[in-house]
This record gives sequence, structure tokens and C-alpha cells, in this order.
Amino acid sequence: MLQVLQIPVWRDNYAYLLRCTDTDTVACVDSPEAAPILQELQTRGWTLDLLLNTHHHPDHVGANSELKRETGCRVVGSCHDPERIPGIDRQVDQGDQVQVGEQHAQVLFIPGHTRGHIAYYFAQANALFSGDTLFVAGCGRLFEGTAEQLWNSFQKLMALPPQTQIYGAHEYTLSNIRFAKTVEPDNLALQVLETQAQALRDSKQPTVPSTLAQELQTNPFLRVDQPEIARALGLSGAPPAQVLGELRARKDVF
Ligand code: ZN
Ligand code: FE
Repeated sequence: MLQVLQIPVWRDNYAYLLRCTDTDTVACVDSPEAAPILQELQTRGWTLDLLLNTHHHPDHVGANSELKRETGCRVVGSCHDPERIPGIDRQVDQGDQVQVGEQHAQVLFIPGHTRGHIAYYFAQANALFSGDTLFVAGCGRLFEGTAEQLWNSFQKLMALPPQTQIYGAHEYTLSNIRFAKTVEPDNLALQVLETQAQALRDSKQPTVPSTLAQELQTNPFLRVDQPEIARALGLSGAPPAQVLGELRARKDVF
């Protein structure tokens, strides 16, 4: 099976260590900072084989070089962004497979936050590592892509099984919920989520991962094809991508 270890880094980043328990193969998803990752590897006696990058931002590739130097790991990243992924050894694209021992990840190309953003989907383990594209109750900013691209990317994620665990790269849940409530004040699932998330944060627990099923009920950015969201933004009848663009613009200044 795939063992997932969540490593909180800095104020709100998560790095993940993944281990195939059958083969003892270990991968790390993103590298905000080397020390906490190396510490965790050392504590557990694990050897890092692979570093899987989701996108080029410094809080995701910042420790690539140090991790590679210290562990000799191979770096996997987007073929749409090789020049911005330090130490990249293997360039991957939509549909490519990455093996962590006996666990297989499918690469999903999901541009929008950045032009090269990818996600890693482990079907057997029911786990999606979504980087800064999809968070609990929110999504990353549109830094380099269009709303059309991001909506297209979301549709790839929304097609995964509902029980898929979504491991995003940041703990932004409470502020995301605050914004989501301005759009859907009557969404009961969102209110339940807020209570749960607040309790988790009060006891210093992560709210990540969530499930795709939960996101489909509560995340307004995945719900831009719902008439009530378009209506709330004064965009009744507009295509989902346009609603998404408006929603993201409002969150940018929330
Ligand atoms: Zn980012
Ligand atoms: Fe980030």
C-alpha cells in the first residue's frame, strides 16, 4: 500500500512523503524546505528515491537541489516547465505514469495556476496530489493561465472517483470557507465543513486531505457550473469558465 506522511512546513505549506510499503520506495511531493523533510526521512530510516514536483513556485521546488544533493533522489516534473524545475531528471506530461515502487501515479496536466502545473493521481491508493490547483474549499490563483484552462483542468479532477483523497499543498481551508460562504451562504455542506474545519484547526490538526465528493459539495470553484453560483455572481446563463474567472477575481481581492 501507499503510506502518506504529511509534513507541515512554514506557516501553511504541506510537503508529503509517500512510501510503497511493499518495496520501501519513497517519494516526496514538492520541496518547500529541506530540513523538515530530511529530518522526517532520518527519523524513519527512509531513503528518498523520487521527488515529484507539481509546479515551479519557490515554495514547491525551493529545496530541490538540496534534497537531490543530500539523498541522490531523481526529480520528476512537468515537461511544460523544465527550465523552472531545478534538477529535473524526468519530464512528464498528461497520461504519463510515475512508479513509486508498486504504486502507480498517473500524471494529470492541469494548467491555470501556472502554465506547467501537474498533479499526481494514485488510483490504487485513492490519492490525488493537487499542488496549488485545488485546495479544500478553494483553488490557487490564476497566475499564468486563463479561466478556460483552469476550468478544463478542474474537469479532469472532477472526473476522478468521488472517494479520491485530495492532498493540496496549503492549509488555506478556513479562509477559503469564509469566502465560499459569501457566495453560497445557504450551502449546508459548507456550514458543516466549517464547523469540522474550525475544530480541527483549534486542535492544531490539518484539514487536508479532503475528498473529491466533499469538494464537489462545498468548493465554489468546482461548482461554477451550478446555476446558483452563476446567479450569486450576477452571471446567470454564463459559461462555467466565465463564472470561474469572476469568482477567482473576487477571491483575489477578498
Ligand atoms: Zn504555487
Ligand atoms: Fe504554493
